[in-house]
Amino acid sequence: MRQKEIEKIFSPPKIHEVGDGFRMHNFIPGLPELTMERMDPFLVLDYNSKYHFPPSDKIRGVGVHPHRGFETVTIAYQGKIAHNDSAGGGGVIGEGDVQWMTAGSGILHKEFHEEEFCKSGGDFQMVQLWVNLPAKDKMTQPKYQPLKNAEIPKRQLPNEAGFLELIAGEFNGTMGAAQTFSPVNVWNVKLNTGGKVEFELPAEFNTGLLMVEGDVKVNSETVAADHFLLFKNQGEKVSLQATQNSIVLVLSGQPLREPIFAHGPFVMNSRKEIWDAFHDYNSGKFGYLEDEF
Ligand code: MN
Repeated sequence: MRQKEIEKIFSPPKIHEVGDGFRMHNFIPGLPELTMERMDPFLVLDYNSKYHFPPSDKIRGVGVHPHRGFETVTIAYQGKIAHNDSAGGGGVIGEGDVQWMTAGSGILHKEFHEEEFCKSGGDFQMVQLWVNLPAKDKMTQPKYQPLKNAEIPKRQLPNEAGFLELIAGEFNGTMGAAQTFSPVNVWNVKLNTGGKVEFELPAEFNTGLLMVEGDVKVNSETVAADHFLLFKNQGEKVSLQATQNSIVLVLSGQPLREPIFAHGPFVMNSRKEIWDAFHDYNSGKFGYLEDEF
């Protein structure tokens, strides 16, 4: 097995606001090298780096909007996020929890800060990923998987190096919590100061690391918090060593290699399917959701 070589390390891009509650660094597809095709099956990586929200009586968030053709994955590192959708899915996630929503054939949802968190204010840090669906599953029935931290499988590392949280995929025989439609690894690697881990991921999988917390040596390169590291599609072995307590989000997926037509909240395989999505949305086929938090 060969070591994976680093293709590039990206600084966090300028923040864009999603609604009034999410201050996102958009790595995928915002950075020219991190297109949807290059990162296939990851369509979007939005990252709200740690930010202190002051107390507010108004609920912050983003109102009702549609999606079709992919899955949204929300990972809370700090703060509390609530969600409701037109298929009846919903709930609140807090530190360490994940929501895995399959938009499939079409869904309306709203995403906002949980009420008590809004009122008290506090540190907020989260990730939202969009994971593509294979063409044959794009019109699957919408689904919602709430993954509480306690239900996410953990693997302790030797020598008190830390542990892995397997949100999706597989690590040394332990399966991740989420059901997925194609092979995708989404792991939080939580390392203690000096902690080391080595793992292997297939060369053909598109693979990157988001540095959520701390400084981590990847191969021999030290990468700072809030940066994103992209690997070349060569080699399998990754070695991480934390220089302080760290969290690394590992993203690695088998490319679907299907045409990507993305327009706003819809990601399909042809322009015709995008038109159909707008038509179905405008004729009420995505259901109903009250536009209030
Ligand atoms: Mn959304």
